Amino acid sequence: MHPPNPLPILTLQQLDLETTIEFVHRILQSPPGVFATTGQSGTGKLTALLAVVQEFTKSGSSVKLFTEDLNFPFVLPENWSIQVVVPTEAAWTEAIENSIQDSSIPFVIDMLNLINYKAVFLGAQQKRWIFTCIDTPYIGIDVVYNFRDWIGINYSEILQQFSCIWSQTLLPLLCTNCAQPVQVGVEAMKLLDPNSHRTEELWKEVGCELCEQRGTKTRGAVYEILQIDDETRPILQDYLENNIITPLPNTKHQTIQDCARALLREGTVGIETYKRVITQNPILRVQHLLEHEKYRSAQMQDMFSRFVTRQVVDRIMHSSDFAEIVAGERRKVTCVFCDVRNFTSYAETASPDDIFALLNSYFQDIIEIVFQYEGTIDKFIGDSIMLVFGAPTEQIDQEIRAVNCAIAIQRKVAEINEMRTNLDVVNLGIGINTGEVIAGCLGSERRMDYTVLGDVVNVAARLESRAIAKQILISKETFTAVQDKISCRSVGELSLKGKADKLSAFEVVYE
Ligand SMILES: [Zn+2]
Repeated sequence: MHPPNPLPILTLQQLDLETTIEFVHRILQSPPGVFATTGQSGTGKLTALLAVVQEFTKSGSSVKLFTEDLNFPFVLPENWSIQVVVPTEAAWTEAIENSIQDSSIPFVIDMLNLINYKAVFLGAQQKRWIFTCIDTPYIGIDVVYNFRDWIGINYSEILQQFSCIWSQTLLPLLCTNCAQPVQVGVEAMKLLDPNSHRTEELWKEVGCELCEQRGTKTRGAVYEILQIDDETRPILQDYLENNIITPLPNTKHQTIQDCARALLREGTVGIETYKRVITQNPILRVQHLLEHEKYRSAQMQDMFSRFVTRQVVDRIMHSSDFAEIVAGERRKVTCVFCDVRNFTSYAETASPDDIFALLNSYFQDIIEIVFQYEGTIDKFIGDSIMLVFGAPTEQIDQEIRAVNCAIAIQRKVAEINEMRTNLDVVNLGIGINTGEVIAGCLGSERRMDYTVLGDVVNVAARLESRAIAKQILISKETFTAVQDKISCRSVGELSLKGKADKLSAFEVVYE
C-alpha cells in the first residue's frame, strides 16, 4: 500500500508558481467543474495538480482521491482520503456513485482515462470540483480534441464539464554558469514575440563543463492555463466547431508562449531553447504561427484604418474575399483627384512650415468629408490627393458618392477660405473618372499600401490638371451614372496630355 519513498505534495510557491496563484484562486472561486492538468508523461502534471488541490484545501476542505495506483507516490495530508479503484468501468462507476451520495467534497482522480471518464463526468455533473490529469500532447483548448474518440464530438457538452485546463510541457533551463547576455535587435525580437517593438537583452546558451557543453541543465515546466466559464465557453465552442479564433483576455487565458517568454526574459530559459521548443513541438509551432498571423492581421487592420473608415475596415476584415483584396483584383472604381491650384508659385515663396500648416488645415477637413462619403484615401502626392470609391469594397452608387464628395469638399474649402481673411487661401481643381482598375495591396511587408492601378486613374489625374480653381470635371463614364441626380454641363471635348483621342468632359454645377 505504501511506496518506499513517498513524495511530499509541493505548494504552488515551492513550484515557483507564485505568479499563477491569483489566477488559480480566481478559477477556484468560480462555479465548480473539472480542473484538469494535462501534458505528456513526465511533464509534472500530477505534481502541479496536487499543488492546486493543496491550495484549494487551505480553505479547510477535505478531498477524496481516487486512483488505480496501489502505490500512489505522494504522502497525503490528513484531511485527504484515498480510495484505490480496480481499473474497470463498473468499479469506477460504483466508487464515484457511492461517494457522490456521501458528501459534496471535491474529488481528485489522478488520471482521467477511457475506463473512468464516464464516471468522472458523472461526478462533475453534481457540480463539484473534480481535479484530474489528462495524458495528452494537446495544449489548452485543443485538449478537448482528446475526447473526440471517447465521447464523440459534442464540444458543447464537454465544455460544460470543464472549469480549467492547465497544460504543461517541459523545457530545458539555462545553465547559469555559462549563460551569456545578448542584445536582440528589433527584427529578431519580433520573431520571438510579435508584440515586441524594441531591442531586448536576453540570454543565450554557451556551454561549459558543468552542463556538458549543452548550455542547459535541468528541465522546468511551462504551462498554459485556460479558464472555462460562461464568458469563455461560447468563444471556445466557436473555435472548436467553426474555427473562429477570438483571443481571450489574459485574465482568463495565460498561454504557454506567455509563460515561456516570461522565462526567456527573466533569463531562466535561453534563446535557442525557446526557438527550438516553439518550432519543434507541433502544437506550439501552430500556436506560434497563429500568433504571428493575428499580429499581421491586426497590422493590416491598422494599415487599412489609415485610409478608409472603421466600417470599411471591419467589412474588409470579415469579408471572405480578404485574400483577393490583398492580392489584387479587377474591379470598377471611381477615382477622384483633388489638387491645389496655383500652389506651386506659393510654395516657391513660403517656408516649408507654413506650407505644411496651410495644407494640413485643409486636409484634415477634407479627410473627414471623404470618410463621411465612405471613400478611400488612396494616396497623397505632394499637394494633391487621390481618392477611390468602389474599392476595397463594392459601392453600387460609387459615382454619385464620388461626385457628391467632391462637391462637399469644394464647399468646405470655400467655407475655410471665407474665414481666412487676409491669409493665404487654397483652391482646388478636381477631376473624376470611372472604370475598371486593378485594386490591391502593393509594397513590402514593412510598408504596404492599398492602391488602384490603370488608365482610369491617369484620366482622372489629367481631368484634374485641366480643372480650374473650384471646378469639378468628370468624364463621360462618370457623367452617365450621375446625370439623373446631379446637375452637370458639357465642356466639350478635351485633348488630354498623353492621350491621342479627345475626351468628352463635363463640369459639375454646384453652388
Ligand atoms: Zn554551462
